[in-house]
Amino acid sequence: MQTVIKVDQATLAIMTSHYGKPSKASPGVVFRGKHNGTTVTGYRTGKVLFQGQNASREAAQWHQSSSVSPSNGKKKDDLPAGFDQMAVLGSDEVGVGSYFGPLTVAAVFVDRQHVDQVEQLGVRDSKQLTDPQITRMAKKIIQLCPYHVVNLDPPTYNRLMNKYGNQAQLKALSHNLALAKVLNKIKPVQPEAILIDQFVAPQTYYRYLKGQSTIVKDKVHFHVRGEHEHVAVAAGSIVARYYSLQRMDVLSEKAGVTLPIGAGTNVDNVAASLLRHGKDLGQFAKLHFANTKKAEKLAKN
Ligand code: MN
Repeated sequence: MQTVIKVDQATLAIMTSHYGKPSKASPGVVFRGKHNGTTVTGYRTGKVLFQGQNASREAAQWHQSSSVSPSNGKKKDDLPAGFDQMAVLGSDEVGVGSYFGPLTVAAVFVDRQHVDQVEQLGVRDSKQLTDPQITRMAKKIIQLCPYHVVNLDPPTYNRLMNKYGNQAQLKALSHNLALAKVLNKIKPVQPEAILIDQFVAPQTYYRYLKGQSTIVKDKVHFHVRGEHEHVAVAAGSIVARYYSLQRMDVLSEKAGVTLPIGAGTNVDNVAASLLRHGKDLGQFAKLHFANTKKAEKLAKN
């Protein structure tokens, strides 16, 4: 059995991390992995090939959630018309790719009355914003909108990674918790929809949540680059970044050095220096990253 779907580049990136290692097996191939007896091959063009007994089922979970329709290549949505003006609870996270610092998820509820106001803060292009801009916007957002932050500082993060062994699961658990908290806060008001900035297939997301006492599922949508679909996700991203910045300051103070973000060589050097000073990396960093081994090696020399 074989199924082919077409996805956009953001979805392709998510699928690459979902199915395992990037691959250069042949020209044009971005990743190749196996899941549920299905071999999945992603191509630079956005074409993804599923081969095996569960091919169509495996493909379906991406197909539904993907923002690109294979038939016309245009944006298709599971999102209702006029979505961007609706009262939406949105969530996003930061810190996933950074060795030092927490994993932070924020959920923000933006009702219809506040959509324009939040939009006008300039929350949409959060990637280009400076730290002071983030701080200023976040402070306004949390004045205007009900929100909740789930912050996993490194000691907690590392403990949970030891338990679950999977960063995407930690993200799922954190999103679910943040959303549940806000839903509780705004009762009896309910959002018209919930939007999670997508990082795994919905089916996988809910598999990660099995056994949780509260699982937020009603009216939940997933969308890659969700911040383009509703300001609530953009606002969530800003609030998460604001919170993460504050934690980074506290951790830097504790470490006695400004902890850099990212996971590059600079990060290895700072980590090595912390080790040489007898510091416990687990207080500051996500230990499962390859940077830990590199820093240990550097510290010995
Ligand atoms: Mn995101």
